Amino acid sequence: MRLIVAAACAALFLVPASAAGAATTKGGGEHVVAPEGGSLDLVGVSFGQHLRQLQLSLRSDQAITPQLLSDTGGGRICAVLSQSSRAPRSICVVRRDGDWQIRSRGKRVAGKVTQPRTRELSLSFEAGDAGLKTGAANWYVESQAAGCTDVQPSQAKITWSGAAIVSASAVSNACQHRVPRIGSYSGRVWQAKVTGCQRRGAAQVSRGPSGKRIALTYDDGPSPYTPGFLRELDKLGVPATFFMIGQQVPGNAALVRRVLSSGSMIGNHSWNHADLGRGGPGASSQLRSTNAAIKSATGFTPCLFRPPYGSTGANLVSRSRAQGMTSVLWSADPLDWRTPGTGSIVSTVVSQTRGGGIILSHDGGGIRSQTLAAMPQIVKRLKARGYRFVTLTDLLGYSEKISLVK
Ligand code: ZN
Repeated sequence: MRLIVAAACAALFLVPASAAGAATTKGGGEHVVAPEGGSLDLVGVSFGQHLRQLQLSLRSDQAITPQLLSDTGGGRICAVLSQSSRAPRSICVVRRDGDWQIRSRGKRVAGKVTQPRTRELSLSFEAGDAGLKTGAANWYVESQAAGCTDVQPSQAKITWSGAAIVSASAVSNACQHRVPRIGSYSGRVWQAKVTGCQRRGAAQVSRGPSGKRIALTYDDGPSPYTPGFLRELDKLGVPATFFMIGQQVPGNAALVRRVLSSGSMIGNHSWNHADLGRGGPGASSQLRSTNAAIKSATGFTPCLFRPPYGSTGANLVSRSRAQGMTSVLWSADPLDWRTPGTGSIVSTVVSQTRGGGIILSHDGGGIRSQTLAAMPQIVKRLKARGYRFVTLTDLLGYSEKISLVK
């Protein structure tokens, strides 16, 4: 009888909840099931996405206590997500070392767990951190109360053999619950596509706020070297900011999109690398056409401008600001364009970098193999000093404009 009720509930929730109105939030409507009783019974679950964060909300019909989710006692609530041909992935919340933790495949996942009410838990985390890809995902949630010693699923199967629906009902007992009780819900991990960023504060900067965050910047691309820079950044797990020359963008649209999708940032470096230091309407036109080329390739409009040669002035700065961009100079310059040798590039950057530092280098405009070879050493040595690499927009505290797309 209970199974018929569960099926009716599932049918009811085939209609997607459309409460989330903002373009930057998808899904998140709650699926509700009838209580089964027992420990850590779940009666409501939801899975949605806000900006880059996946959000999983769990509701029990009793208090969710740290004891019930004690990791050492075997307690956990896990969302199990299946994506196309990949093995299903469990993303679990447990209580461990005095904290709620999100864990997957034996490792802690960066993210946040909150308990808005005693019967609820909310998890938010980024898809990539949890090993999930953009795309459709079938999901269900299962719970196991710590230290609970009720009948096990294997025994349940034996006890109830003969009934046609045995395998579906067998997973439910006083210690273990599953939502939906049978089958799974369909959901999606959306691609968080960045469409812009919002500048604020000073209209020209040469460093970020002091602290342990720093930014790598690469100028004069996109170039044949840029893919190698992206591969190396990906290996190192750090982002960078690429200041691009507008006239090089149209022939490299896919590469420019890859810069953004890999988590790095794009800035404007003029249309043809002219000296714009005196400003004037020609400078505005250089900035405008470059932003138009970047937007046409990616859907993204930059909020950062780097004046070619570092040649700048009040008129240029106000023109870049009028187009929503901050003019960005630098605080560390290894003169890599002179190809002084990989060792020299590394040691200059390391010695000139302080908290909030903006590191100038080049991925275009010449042979950049020394700059590329220097990158992993720079990252390793500065990480060892406690620095964390972020995009320039992150460093400056700018917010991103994000839309979620299939
Ligand atoms: Zn340049």
